[in-house]
Amino acid sequence: LRRYGLDDDDEEERLRRDARGRDTIEIRSGQVVRGIEGLIGNTPLMRINSLSDATGCEILGKAEFLNPAGSPKDRVALQILNDAEEEGLLHPHTGSCIFEGTVGSTGISLATLARAKGYRCSIVIPDDVAREKVELLKKLGAEIDSVRPRGIVDPRHFVNEARARAEAFGDLELVGPHAEPYHMERDDVDVSRDPARSSKDQNSHGNVTRDDLVVSTRTRKSSMDDEQSPDSLEKGARGFFADQFENPSNFWAHYRNTGPEIWRQTGGLLDAFVAGAGTGGTLSGCAAYLKRVSCSSDRGWSLNRPASLDEVRVVLADPQGSGLYNKIKYGVMYSPTEAEGKRRRHQVDSVVEGIGINRLTKNLEMGLQCIDDAERVTDDEAARMGRWLVLNDGLFLGSSSAVNCVAAVKTALKLKKERGDEPPPVVVTILCDSGSRHLSKFHDDEAMKRLGVNAGSSDISDILQG
Ligand code: PMP
Repeated sequence: LRRYGLDDDDEEERLRRDARGRDTIEIRSGQVVRGIEGLIGNTPLMRINSLSDATGCEILGKAEFLNPAGSPKDRVALQILNDAEEEGLLHPHTGSCIFEGTVGSTGISLATLARAKGYRCSIVIPDDVAREKVELLKKLGAEIDSVRPRGIVDPRHFVNEARARAEAFGDLELVGPHAEPYHMERDDVDVSRDPARSSKDQNSHGNVTRDDLVVSTRTRKSSMDDEQSPDSLEKGARGFFADQFENPSNFWAHYRNTGPEIWRQTGGLLDAFVAGAGTGGTLSGCAAYLKRVSCSSDRGWSLNRPASLDEVRVVLADPQGSGLYNKIKYGVMYSPTEAEGKRRRHQVDSVVEGIGINRLTKNLEMGLQCIDDAERVTDDEAARMGRWLVLNDGLFLGSSSAVNCVAAVKTALKLKKERGDEPPPVVVTILCDSGSRHLSKFHDDEAMKRLGVNAGSSDISDILQG
């Protein structure tokens, strides 16, 4: 150290002494994580300077794109696989295969963790997603099937195709909630299932406990009787349908991790949480946690009561073509074709990838009563916000993050109008993935033009005016 002109201070001496005689790195010290799983979560919360300065509000983005496989889906994939292993449904290095239907992020996270944990991975993906996602999946060694985007009730929809492939793998069949067909007859929602309509579910989210949820189990097709537990199955190659839309592990990943991180990082000083919904796991998991901690237990809350001052307001960011906006605002999901012409999410090429749906998923239902409001965001607004963030903050993000940021600005300006600007409203949103996954579509002006969006502009002055 003296040769290099460095002080040999106490700390360095201690580290040298500690390292002596040891041949392994001390993982438990927290300085070294064990494998890629250790890099998941605990993402930073960043102030988006341009939007905060322009609005006079604090607009904060949870940098989920920094997860190792590039999105919050790393948390979900890890929770799904850990839960399945804990239930004895999956055993590493047995040739078992994870199946999933995904627009990309969940597939990339599952394929990454499948490599790290010792599984095969098979992904069914719509053929209109940005091609770099498919390239990445190939590099990760996933088996890939591209299918035309279709409505969820169509057996060839990517989620149904993935379920069918999992069922066909080996001689296993699905039981439990995964075995049920989606509950809609049309690409629409049965409002009688709305938890806000049932008095039991109008209590705080405290009624959502792990015990209330039926977690998937699998049985052997042939001779398994009802009493036989999955643990009694011999270990062997299994097909496992991850089912991010209906599998409650998704909700719990965010309820237990993302939500608490946001609460800690803001010291509880946040006024609103804003996020889009693809499966709804991020929105409803964070919403349920943030409502729980921000509401005093004796007051409680319900869907129809306006969020009070100390309660975190939860806002859905909904892209053009999604039916969820009306569900949150008016309690009824309607088919967007009635009002928005031909464009229909998951049926024709969509501009925004990953968020916007026309049905209630199990994961969204689990926190539905915690969502107070919704902001609709057009493809044009999202495109301009995407370009604004690159040019003003050096933030190169995907389409769903752009939608979230537009909705976060709209929410912040509404809060400011309602409550004044002292103290400035604090709004947290999710920065889902990097723009590098969207180079050939959302960030390609020509490709956007073909989808009907004039995407050259980074002018967001109309959005900043509220
Ligand atoms: N952004 C991207 C890029 C996604 O892929 C997804 C998931 N489909 C989301 C946002 C939405 O997350 P969630 O599924 O938790 O609603």
